[in-house]
Amino acid sequence: MKVITTVAEMEAERGRMNGGVGLVPTMGALHEGHLSLVRRARAESDHVVVSVFVNPTQFGPSEDFAAYPRDLDRDLRLLEDEGADIVFAPPAEEIYPPGFDDWVEVRGPLAERLEGEFRPGHFRGVTTVVARLFRVVRPQRAYFGEKDAQQLRVVRRMAAEQRLPVEVAGLPTVREPDGLAMSSRNAYLSPEERRAALVVPRALELGRRMVEVDGVREAAAVRSAAEELIRREPRARIDYVSVSDPETLEELCEIDRPALLLLAVRIGATRLIDNAMLLPRSP
Ligand code: AMP
Repeated sequence: MKVITTVAEMEAERGRMNGGVGLVPTMGALHEGHLSLVRRARAESDHVVVSVFVNPTQFGPSEDFAAYPRDLDRDLRLLEDEGADIVFAPPAEEIYPPGFDDWVEVRGPLAERLEGEFRPGHFRGVTTVVARLFRVVRPQRAYFGEKDAQQLRVVRRMAAEQRLPVEVAGLPTVREPDGLAMSSRNAYLSPEERRAALVVPRALELGRRMVEVDGVREAAAVRSAAEELIRREPRARIDYVSVSDPETLEELCEIDRPALLLLAVRIGATRLIDNAMLLPRSP
């Protein structure tokens, strides 16, 4: 496994590759969720490139960029064990050289609602860095998690708009045995907060049961029930509870086709997002 830290060296290495290239973009502090993407990339590609880059431009001024967990040595050991070929771990100046102004942005509700509303500028940072990674690594396929459902859709739209010839694959969310979605940010949770965080998967499960078992069709009923459950946890604060169209991420009134239940909840100072697909019973 080779560790590359400059864009020039990454481009040169890419030029020497023959066959299919799979890219897994990450911010490091790797867990089983990330590794599931690397395994899929390994199974489907001749060359597996994993990027490890804590992207400053996708963090807001009052967010956790400085505190974000970083442990490159551990990440490299895990990636070596998974058979990654290249780890691209550039310093910020490589991606954002002085005078950088090459922003890539997706507009419209897909990027402006939900995370776009609560984290202004976040997706501009994501689409800018991912476009740059796609241009440097030129993967045939790139792997993202459904855990960040809106990000996955925004990245797909960005690649289409920028005419970047890459297939963006979305893989299922990997969870802890008790249902909490794996996330590098879970490391911030105190033991009490870790217990409180279970309201997130429980609210998703409640929504799923309402739609899939009880046959509820009104999105408002699902939203209220999920909100009520989360409000019963004193450490939890809701940013949003949304029942959205899985393609456009526009809010739904009636769940008469598959829908995404998306949650953003703060537990103490830690912001968690998660989602589940709701599949209505056929009439
Ligand atoms: P991050 O390091 O948080 O930027 O995440 C890198 C990639 O891993 C993104 O495509 C995420 O959606 C994905 N990812 C993060 N957590 C999980 C998870 N629990 N299961 C599956 N994929 C995940």
